[in-house]
Amino acid sequence: MPGFEVFGEEEKQQALEVFDTGVLFRYEFGEQRRGVYKVREFEQAFCRYTGATHAQAVTSGTAALKVALAALGVGPGDEVITQGFTFVATWEAILDIGALPVFTEVDTTLNMDPADLEKKITDRTRAIIPVHMLGAQARITEIMAIADRHGIPVIEDTAQAAGARLGGRHLGTFGAIGTFSFDSVKTMTTGEGGMCITSDEELWRNMSEYHDHGHDHVVNPGGRGGEGRRFFGFNYRMMELQGAIGLAQLAKLDSMVAAQKKNKAVLREAAAGIDGVTFRTLLDEEGDSATFLAFMLPDRERAAEVNAVLRGEGVGAINFGDNTWHFYPRWEHLAGGRTLCKTGWPFSAHGKRRILYDPDALPASAELMGRTLVYQVPVRMDEAWRDKVVAALARAAGA
Ligand SMILES: *Cc1c(COP(=O)(O)O)cnc(C)c1O
Repeated sequence: MPGFEVFGEEEKQQALEVFDTGVLFRYEFGEQRRGVYKVREFEQAFCRYTGATHAQAVTSGTAALKVALAALGVGPGDEVITQGFTFVATWEAILDIGALPVFTEVDTTLNMDPADLEKKITDRTRAIIPVHMLGAQARITEIMAIADRHGIPVIEDTAQAAGARLGGRHLGTFGAIGTFSFDSVKTMTTGEGGMCITSDEELWRNMSEYHDHGHDHVVNPGGRGGEGRRFFGFNYRMMELQGAIGLAQLAKLDSMVAAQKKNKAVLREAAAGIDGVTFRTLLDEEGDSATFLAFMLPDRERAAEVNAVLRGEGVGAINFGDNTWHFYPRWEHLAGGRTLCKTGWPFSAHGKRRILYDPDALPASAELMGRTLVYQVPVRMDEAWRDKVVAALARAAGA
């Protein structure tokens, strides 16, 4: 996920154009900014790139999820279904809007299992958030079919999969809203930042107004106007410097993905020699953004054995089964209902616990994640590191 690897003159030039006007704010300052609207330009470029008709830039991928949920009218009393393998941000946004996250199993796509999704839909389900983890596709076609049948909107958390596609169509454009993150470790980065895309004008208007205290941006694009204030909002505005850097990074996205694909192929070939190895299911290899290589061993013990060899060579793989930020059984603060709020909200209300999260509730995911090993794929692969990993994988194949 390495947009920072290719930071260069382009980002600098873009940022300098903002410093030349002295206007860091995305709205207003019409004369002083001399036609420079970086965030707006970034939104337009992101639309052209993904094929969505509307984009709303925000301060982070987490904010993007919150703004998307707000636009869909989700709130207290509602349930939102997501998957048990994701970054904590996905369910933080759900809790922050007052709704309760419900978690599904993941399958060998390492993303939402549609069969389990079907089981977890109730009459309180108001949104479904599949996550395109580790740069590649959730079973979004099947998930959309289930969601449509129940009349439930889908938000695609595409934070980790900018530039990835399914059947030529960009991830994030299948659901009602797609959200992206541009934080420091994502494929394209603006330091901090996020984006919501949609092809529903009304949802975009909701997001545009909600993310800026209820200001209307339709009457006066680039500024504010109207001010009918249909509802109260919050402040999740992206600033001009982020928009400027985003433009430079977006222009590099396809070349980053192409480089990652090449590098991933080298690592994959080396891993293929390990006895009993299988690879993560990719629904569309061509559309993979190739930010990670994920492979499975027959069981947890064998995975531990292989990883011990890799660690011994100084290039241990990630086992997300042990990861405290990305995997449901490791979220002790969720299971414990820990919150700063003195009344216990959102886990408790009126002195009563609203929901309990059993760490053992996703046994299929636990079995799968426990035997899955993962390498992050760099854009610029250091040759010494590559040789070390390839040699270590060969050694693991012989062990
Ligand atoms: C990074 C990430 C987010 C949050 O993005 P931020 O910009 O860091 O707030 C949300 N979901 C997933 C899956 C992520 O990886």
